[in-house]
Amino acid sequence: MLRLAIQKSGRLSEDSLNLIRECGISFLAASNKLKTEATNFPLEILYLRDDDIPGYVQDGVADLGIVGQNVLVEAGFPALEVEGLGFSKCRLSLAVPRAAAYDSIQDLQGVSIATSYPQILGDYLREKGVQAHLHTISGSVEIAPSIGLAEAICDIVSSGSTLLGNGLREVETVFRSEAVLIANQNLNAEKKELLEQLQFRMQAVRRARR
Ligand code: ATP
Ligand code: ZN
Repeated sequence: MLRLAIQKSGRLSEDSLNLIRECGISFLAASNKLKTEATNFPLEILYLRDDDIPGYVQDGVADLGIVGQNVLVEAGFPALEVEGLGFSKCRLSLAVPRAAAYDSIQDLQGVSIATSYPQILGDYLREKGVQAHLHTISGSVEIAPSIGLAEAICDIVSSGSTLLGNGLREVETVFRSEAVLIANQNLNAEKKELLEQLQFRMQAVRRARR
């Protein structure tokens, strides 16, 4: 039996469950529980915080997972990715206060930046030759400039309205993300076969949606 970890409640949850259902896999809805078993496919679904999913799949506690690439790469396990799923598209962007002067990334030299993605942002800035002071905070990143915690932020953006509402303007795209299927790299032959069946069904669902 395959164990698939999905987000318990959040932006990935509904689309993850819908994808599994559209693959013809039935299970009792039980988002208040920690896990459910499918009735017509050897699959168990674990409901977890999205941040915990990459580590559980890396360690083999779960065989598979559905998680945003942003969380996967930040966790340091990009190699677990099996395929993109086409939903929960968003980007990780740098933003500065609307009135701040900004011409290029070089303007962030020595600046303090609040983010929940220090690894991805750190890699990006290193590549650009920019040294900045990163403040890692776990939420409400967009209010950091207005409370004086940082001069810029790097956060997830989908429409940009949250940035506007906080008097910020997006100046650089750091990373583009979508939901991805991830898998443990040491699955046994039986589980690999089940993963292939599942991928085959997921690809058929995505073709049918287009
Ligand atoms: P959890 O409680 O599981 O830790 P969370 O609050 O960290 O949840 P969500 O806000 O539910 O996470 O977002 C889950 C994922 O959805 C993000 O990591 C990202 O990949 C994707 N996403 C898509 N659009 C957005 C958006 N506008 N804001 C935040 N995340 C988005
Ligand atoms: Zn999370």
